[in-house]
Amino acid sequence: MNDSPNTGQSVLVTGGARGIGAATTRLLAESGFNVLIGDVRSDEGERLAEELGDRTAYCHLDVTNTESWVSAVATAERLFGRVDGLFNNAGILGLGSVMECKPEVFRKILDVNLVGIFLGIRAVVPALRRAKGGVIVNTSSIAGLQGYANLAAYVTSKWGIRGLTKAAALDLARDRIRVVSIHPGPIHTPMTRNFPAGVAAGQPLPRFGEPIEVARMVRFLFSEASYSTGCEFVIDGGATAGAVLELEPELPGMAVTSIAATLPART
Ligand code: NDP
Repeated sequence: MNDSPNTGQSVLVTGGARGIGAATTRLLAESGFNVLIGDVRSDEGERLAEELGDRTAYCHLDVTNTESWVSAVATAERLFGRVDGLFNNAGILGLGSVMECKPEVFRKILDVNLVGIFLGIRAVVPALRRAKGGVIVNTSSIAGLQGYANLAAYVTSKWGIRGLTKAAALDLARDRIRVVSIHPGPIHTPMTRNFPAGVAAGQPLPRFGEPIEVARMVRFLFSEASYSTGCEFVIDGGATAGAVLELEPELPGMAVTSIAATLPART
């Protein structure tokens, strides 16, 4: 059960049965939001909704299916009276280089990760218009900010989400609908359970993030980021901040102290 005051805001979270989606569902519910969990994992989704009480519900949602989307949005409006937000979080990972990734696998990953978000935006906008505005948060990745080897389809899908976010933000601003993308680095979830720990070792913050750290950003975007649309929010421990050049400060003529020596004396 949940004792925090109800904000009256209602949000649909895709891929909400586990990982980042589950952590976000939990945090939003604890913060007074109504949340409809949409996922293909019915057992886990129903269990989470039951645990969190009457502020949350579960519905089966396959983000690649238009009818499934229509039904999910209708369920959210019926249960909560309105829809104010959509967290387009469902996604799948597939390893493989450009030459290894079979066309059918490439299409499948784009279908879930990118077309799923396109369908979700189209399905939810009429409800957001009825609510006189709203927020759509799309989950990209640091793989939507830079390229990665052996992740051809995933990288392509995540860059596509970044572009779609900007296009939708421009198209929907007049409806008072904000659209933003988030870009997590490596986060401890079932998706990354087989990743070696070393994946995060070279980052400024050399650890995996936790799902709650992404959830806090998403809550901020739904509740406080009133002047942000069409832009990117990065939660990556500094992974994409830049490279560290291993240059010695003593390189001849390069140190800031030797440059200072060439400046005219101040009078
Ligand atoms: P998880 O695999 O832990 O959870 C994703 C959920 O989405 C699963 O329940 C999954 O079901 C579900 N899902 C898959 N396909 C569909 C579909 N067609 N319709 C509805 N639900 C579906 O992933 P994470 O929590 O780690 O990731 C969430 C999002 O964050 C993804 O978009 C991912 O790409 C992104 N991300 C994750 C990072 C990480 O390090 N974990 C880093 C950067 C971005 P099933 O398990 O059956 O596939």
